[in-house]
Amino acid sequence: MREHYDVLVAGAGPAGLAAAQAAVSHGARVGLLDMQARPGGQVWRHDVRLPAAPAARQAIEALQGVKLLARHSVVTAEPSALRVETPTGSDLLSFGSLVLATGARELLLPFPGWTLPGVTGAGGLQALAKQGWPVAGKRVVIGGSGPLLLAAADTLRKHGAHVLGMHEQASAATVRSFAWQLRRWPARAAQAAGLRLRLAGVPYRCGSFVREAIGGDAVRGAVIETPHGTRQVECDLLAVGYGLVPNTELAALLGCALDEADAHPRVRVDALLRTSVANIHAAGEACGIGGLAVARIEGAMAGHMAAGDVAAASALLPRRDRERRFGALLARHFTLDPRLRELADERTLVCRCEDVALGALAGYDDARAAKLATRCGMGACQGRICGTALAELGRFPRGGARPPIFPARLATLAGLADFSPDDARRGNRP
Ligand SMILES: Cc1cc2nc3c(=O)[nH]c(=O)nc-3n(C[C@H](O)[C@H](O)[C@H](O)COP(=O)(O)OP(=O)(O)OC[C@H]3O[C@@H](n4cnc5c(N)ncnc54)[C@H](O)[C@@H]3O)c2cc1C
Repeated sequence: MREHYDVLVAGAGPAGLAAAQAAVSHGARVGLLDMQARPGGQVWRHDVRLPAAPAARQAIEALQGVKLLARHSVVTAEPSALRVETPTGSDLLSFGSLVLATGARELLLPFPGWTLPGVTGAGGLQALAKQGWPVAGKRVVIGGSGPLLLAAADTLRKHGAHVLGMHEQASAATVRSFAWQLRRWPARAAQAAGLRLRLAGVPYRCGSFVREAIGGDAVRGAVIETPHGTRQVECDLLAVGYGLVPNTELAALLGCALDEADAHPRVRVDALLRTSVANIHAAGEACGIGGLAVARIEGAMAGHMAAGDVAAASALLPRRDRERRFGALLARHFTLDPRLRELADERTLVCRCEDVALGALAGYDDARAAKLATRCGMGACQGRICGTALAELGRFPRGGARPPIFPARLATLAGLADFSPDDARRGNRP
């Protein structure tokens, strides 16, 4: 089936929701797609037990006139259309303008024992709990870096978990400096203070990180490195995440330029969120990690731009710049301790999908050669976890995106054969 939208928005997180709302306000025919069953993205992910945040409810209720395309996963793209896999088949969605609001994912770093059942990302465990995975009564250790550790702890406690502690790798001095500078964003300072209050009694250790997960069939403890030495703690679940990295695969597939200044690329946009490809805008975490507020503002800007209202988008620029400065503050304060890059040993699995150990990658200096020889990155996550981790470890730069960017049914892949002759000429074959 082929459908056309004046404005198509890829990703229904806070940025995509705001983009769709802004675009539809100009009378455009708007489609908003997401691979998830419900809109909300990461921060507003539907919680099976707890009510949605008022802002999330409002953003979702404001979608009148927008065609919501849930469980639509973009698997490949051409300049003016996206091939999506749906629960019942696959569709080709063509667009006049496209807004990329594909968000971010957690950065997971390999360490001995990280593949044991019961070890997850911090945001990963938060997402599982929201989706109904039972955590009540479980002893949880949280580790990693950044504000997500607190948000995850808060959610897990609301779901009845017993959070034993949060281990932030940044030093206490750095975290204090971050907290002090938060005063320039009063709403955020209030939000952080509220979180800390709710988490009173849960130890928050700085300069501290998970060195190893211990267990047989499942995790039963963690070895923690602290400024005062190493200690061991028993737990039922271990949730470790080292911040976020932008999802840029779809943008790359569409030929949008990426900003590759550090290990994790972001979609390159100008002040009005235009990518390097005409009629494609990008917004939110795909353009760099900045949090909820910037995602919402950029989403609205991109929606106005996609519908052709430059003035409405420009009016939001000062607010956007201010919130982007918060993103820069985050990045400055939660840089990773180099010791984290040394945790994995030669036997530690790096590619969890294909069981490839770090030692098996010795002698390869580019991701493609390593992939061909070892299958590293060829599994279900398509290199999202291992490729990102290896880039952070300084082993290989992140490889380019190739379709399908998400696992797809054979019938969907078969449909690609007549998808685009240009695609075929470019060698973009699954
Ligand atoms: C696991 C996790 C947990 C988080 N928890 C919190 C929290 O508790 N509090 C907080 O303040 N911040 C949290 N964040 C940060 C949060 O991501 C941002 O603040 C905010 O959600 C960014 O909004 P966004 O719209 O840019 O992206 P997102 O919210 O990430 O939304 C992007 C959407 O795009 C969809 N998508 C991506 N690629 C495709 C594709 N190919 N096909 C179809 N759909 C696609 C995704 O399914 C997703 O719904 C979390 C981040 C992560 C990764």
